[in-house]
Amino acid sequence: MSFDSVIMVDWSGGNDRGAAPKKDAIWACVARKGAAEEPVYLRNRQVAEAWIVAAIEAERAAGRRVLVGFDLCFAFPKGFAAHLIGAEDTLALWDWFEARVTDAPKGNNRFELAAKINRQFPGVGPFWFTPNGREIADLPRKGRARSGHGLPEKRATDRAAKGAFSPWQLGGAGAVGGQVIMGMPVLSRLRRQFGIDLKVWPFEPTVAPIVLAETYFSMLPDPLDGHAIKDAAQVALYAARFSGLEDAEWDQILDHPPDPEGWVLGLGHEHLLSASLTPPPLQNDCFAMPQGAHWTPVDEALAHLRTHLGPVVGQEVVDLEAAAGRVLSAAVLAQRSHPPAANAAVDGYGFAGPAGEGVQQMPLIAGRSAAGAPYDGVVPNGHAIRILTGANLPDGVDTIVLQEDVQATDTQIAFHGPLKRGANARRAGEDIQAGYVIFDAGRVLTPADLGTLAAAGLGRVSVHKRLRVGVLSTGDELLLAGAPATAGQVYDANGPMLRATLARWGFDVVDLGRAPDDRAALAGLLDNATAHCDAVLTSGGASGGDEDHVSALLQGTGSFALWRVAVKPGRPLVMGLWQGMPVLGLPGNPVAAQVCTLIFARPALHVLAGAGWVEPAAYMLPASFGKTKKKAGRREYLRARVVDGTVEVFASEGSGRISGLSWANGLVELPDEACTIAPGDPVRFLPFDGFGL
Ligand code: AMP
Ligand code: MG
Repeated sequence: MSFDSVIMVDWSGGNDRGAAPKKDAIWACVARKGAAEEPVYLRNRQVAEAWIVAAIEAERAAGRRVLVGFDLCFAFPKGFAAHLIGAEDTLALWDWFEARVTDAPKGNNRFELAAKINRQFPGVGPFWFTPNGREIADLPRKGRARSGHGLPEKRATDRAAKGAFSPWQLGGAGAVGGQVIMGMPVLSRLRRQFGIDLKVWPFEPTVAPIVLAETYFSMLPDPLDGHAIKDAAQVALYAARFSGLEDAEWDQILDHPPDPEGWVLGLGHEHLLSASLTPPPLQNDCFAMPQGAHWTPVDEALAHLRTHLGPVVGQEVVDLEAAAGRVLSAAVLAQRSHPPAANAAVDGYGFAGPAGEGVQQMPLIAGRSAAGAPYDGVVPNGHAIRILTGANLPDGVDTIVLQEDVQATDTQIAFHGPLKRGANARRAGEDIQAGYVIFDAGRVLTPADLGTLAAAGLGRVSVHKRLRVGVLSTGDELLLAGAPATAGQVYDANGPMLRATLARWGFDVVDLGRAPDDRAALAGLLDNATAHCDAVLTSGGASGGDEDHVSALLQGTGSFALWRVAVKPGRPLVMGLWQGMPVLGLPGNPVAAQVCTLIFARPALHVLAGAGWVEPAAYMLPASFGKTKKKAGRREYLRARVVDGTVEVFASEGSGRISGLSWANGLVELPDEACTIAPGDPVRFLPFDGFGL
């Protein structure tokens, strides 16, 4: 469910900043439907709190659902609340601070309170930093003077957010600890003020008209929009972007397990907040290859495509079930650890390990822990409990003895030690840790990836829109397969072959049919294609002769490139942009068309689709054929197949002999240099399945 209004607040820990707008003060901004109002300068926390209450009341009075985001840690790292107030209850911790913080425009007690809290923890710390070199007992001046307080430096969400500071640091450039102490009382009072109308994400379910959430104003590139003060520009930017999100995007962002450490709203979903979901157009000269040698080596041609092309497709969010074969448009962070809790790897009996040498006897407590039905009680030291595979380890249990190794009665178990602590148990997060990147952008999702994503708590993922690739066969002689043919006509073999190939690669294939050797007709077909296609493969008419209309048309676009690649089978390839849409003109001969598709079009299209560069799989295998005197200066691809671990090649190298492509299960790649191959020599074999066919 989305929000009608978003209020963003850039919090601050210091004292009153005076009447004139200043940086590092409190700034706030209201936005609706993607459009932000003027940012508001709030000179101190008292003014800010009153403004926030009034702004929320105004939104509610207008019947609008409102999200209030604070650039402020809503929680301290794991273990802090448990030790300080006896429960890992973040919202109760806010009330605890509310009862102890004193705050007025001229001064506040944050350093004294931090020192007092430090005294309640063992060792030195966790809070540190003193202003102007002041000496405050139990508040170290330097972070490294701390030891033994037993708490992590950062929360999971701070680790996942680039550049986030530890909340233990109370002051100094970039520090956030002071503002957290000064902010929690305000959050506590907002909860009290608005009662059941207000919920806090992700600590509570957010079905409420007012939702508070923690934000972080360094998720997106810094705004450059004319505001002299960065804080002002930031509140406006984040308010605008969040208020422009749609229902499904909110569902995705808010879908986070309750966690006492909280989470930064939108972290892991930054792409949804980016202004432009459509990538920039390709440069007009992206195919223009420097024409040094008359024939360009294959590797140089590939390197050119690799550096000059980029993704041309936007993004969308899809359900996991529909995500196989799709290309991730952003890195994915685990939303949940896997396993989420420590659990049993076997059926057996759990206890606090380790167990010593020799016969071990333990009383067996009543009850059991099973997968999906954990035991809530505490297992006393020296006692054991029945536990089944996949069951969470109850408090007091870290070790499991296999049931086959145990003699058990209803009240006792006995087994032979020793057994190490942690035996037969799986640690929480031993496989995947919440907040960490599990897949990078550009990954083409495999079936196994869907399993990993599900385990890590993701039900939906952001992917690139499918690349729509048109396939057009050109030539007056071409005829639809199966139609009655007259002499001089040839069935269109490239069309079905190329479309099936592209479908295997996960692209949206658009059948553009056949074009006659007529410039105007061809231009019309390409014009139409721009509405339905992100890229087009043509075959035929590409060499530069009289009837080579694909070349002739692209030549007039200012983006034309005729690629004389030193490859056999090949002939020239033509490339260009037709109204910004990349067109790859393949040779007409079916064998050449398919080989050029595998070698050149496949990696190029994957880049356009956001998947990055792809290389075919290759293996060195002994030849069972011989070839004398392959010429220097061009790379050759032979139709080949592997039989009993050796490679044979098709009887003819004729590029019109399409049956050879069916006969083959891969290609032999002969190097650019001259060579002679004798049976038994190793050759480079590229299996078709390594091309994804
Ligand atoms: P082109 O590149 O147009 O000169 O065509 C070279 C050869 O490939 C000619 O023999 C064409 O008839 C043949 N050819 C062109 N396109 C196709 C196609 N789609 N299917 C089968 N053969 C084709
Ligand atoms: Mg032709």
